[in-house]
Amino acid sequence: MTEKKPHVAVIGGGLVGALNACFLAKRNFKVDVYERRDDIRKAEHVKGRSINLALSTRGRTALRMVGLEEEVLKNGIPMHARMIHGVDGSRNPILYGKEDQYIMSVDRRRLNEVLLSAAEDNPNVTCYFEHKVVRCDFTTGEVEFINKEGKKVQNKVDLIVGNDGAFSAVRKEMMRATLLDFQQEYIPHGYMELTIPPSPKDEFQMEVNYLHIWPRNEYMMIALPNLDKSFTCTLFMPFDIFASIKTEEDLMRFFRDKFPDAIPLMGEETLKQIYMSSKPLPMVSIKCSPYHVKDKGVIMGDAAHAMVPFYGQGMNAGFEDCIVLDEMLDKYNNDFAKALPAYSEFRKVDDHAICDLAMYNYVEMRKSVNSKLFLMRKKLDNLLFTIFPSSWVPLYTMVAFTRTRYHECIEKRKHQDEILNKVLYIGGVILFGSLAVSVVQILNQNGVSIHSLKDHFTQLWEAYF
Ligand code: FAD
Repeated sequence: MTEKKPHVAVIGGGLVGALNACFLAKRNFKVDVYERRDDIRKAEHVKGRSINLALSTRGRTALRMVGLEEEVLKNGIPMHARMIHGVDGSRNPILYGKEDQYIMSVDRRRLNEVLLSAAEDNPNVTCYFEHKVVRCDFTTGEVEFINKEGKKVQNKVDLIVGNDGAFSAVRKEMMRATLLDFQQEYIPHGYMELTIPPSPKDEFQMEVNYLHIWPRNEYMMIALPNLDKSFTCTLFMPFDIFASIKTEEDLMRFFRDKFPDAIPLMGEETLKQIYMSSKPLPMVSIKCSPYHVKDKGVIMGDAAHAMVPFYGQGMNAGFEDCIVLDEMLDKYNNDFAKALPAYSEFRKVDDHAICDLAMYNYVEMRKSVNSKLFLMRKKLDNLLFTIFPSSWVPLYTMVAFTRTRYHECIEKRKHQDEILNKVLYIGGVILFGSLAVSVVQILNQNGVSIHSLKDHFTQLWEAYF
């Protein structure tokens, strides 16, 4: 007798949903993907967030596990370092890790297309576009959709997987079915995408293998390279500063003051045209728990943990979710009643940790990189990494270039911070001490004794106080 293979509905055919379908298909499950939008492979323009994304080790590992890493990488551009742009036009690189460590700039749409096609290459996967989920029953496994004709259609499955993004309908349904803790935070900053086109000779206008950053303390602009030799720039700023820029003159005054070197690269007219016709978009951070209901429903990706984009980890964390669920299904032999609670329990601490790290990194990117002390610390961090590569791994390296659990990255960093603080403190004391000794030696050589110096200070003190 052959065992009946589980039937799974993946809600959302975005980045995480499409990858998840590939993972679940490998288990031989019957997989139906339901996506609210039309098939992006047929669309001329796709509305939505960032054009390109930074792909790092966690995401790459997940892609490798479904045989897609090479295909994705061949259309990506390696970024080895941050390139910091000063207001004076200076450019200074800060390496991400070792020379051979880099993150990849990949095109969001192309990646989504590759994932959807790979999912559909499996005979046990069917994608339904223009199907918006409106109701889930986590007791019976019934899911209800509105299709493109505006009609209600239903399906009944063994497992409902919510990969339907930050404003997840599946999560809302789960909140009605179980005691789900939920926390949402909008930051007072928005983002707007601008562009640096290729040069008239069809070349990149800036160094290509970098993530360019214009840190301006309260706000910042970044730029990632694209295959067509353009850069997608993202301006992150408090909404009230966006609102204060009302006219083209305001905009040019602001850019001349804060990002002067970007103006000739963007082209004044293009900058005005894009900025004046765009609206800044909000950024939200969402934490919730648990991620599952009984043996029937689970949420993953942004549906479970939307985060602000400053660590470049939202998609990477969502891709890693797929690996973790796969491991839990292996461990519990596809028994959803055991695998789903185990997934929730295991993954929650890590997803919450990366949401926190993403918040923290905004300050690092827009402000700390301007500080000499921060840069000195970073150098010390990297030096220790070179000397003790297995025991001292900098935070960014752990997050972007390893699969160390996110919550362990935070714990290890706290420990390293304590050590670094002590090293800097002891270094400071030694430096101050040797300076003091040198001063006394110089004074002695010039015939000034420490006693006469003391007398001199005593006279001064008495004269004034
Ligand atoms: P989504 O990409 O939101 O996909 C959800 C899908 O579900 C969509 O296709 C949607 O149409 C569909 N859907 C929604 N509701 C329904 C419904 N009711 N029924 C059916 N379908 C539905 N991450 C990185 O790792 N690196 C980066 O460099 C990076 N940069 C970013 C820059 C910006 C400006 C932003 C905003 C985010 C960035 N991210 C980055 C985060 C990344 O975009 C997200 O984490 C990732 O897209 C999450 O994928 P997802 O599939 O979970 O959700």
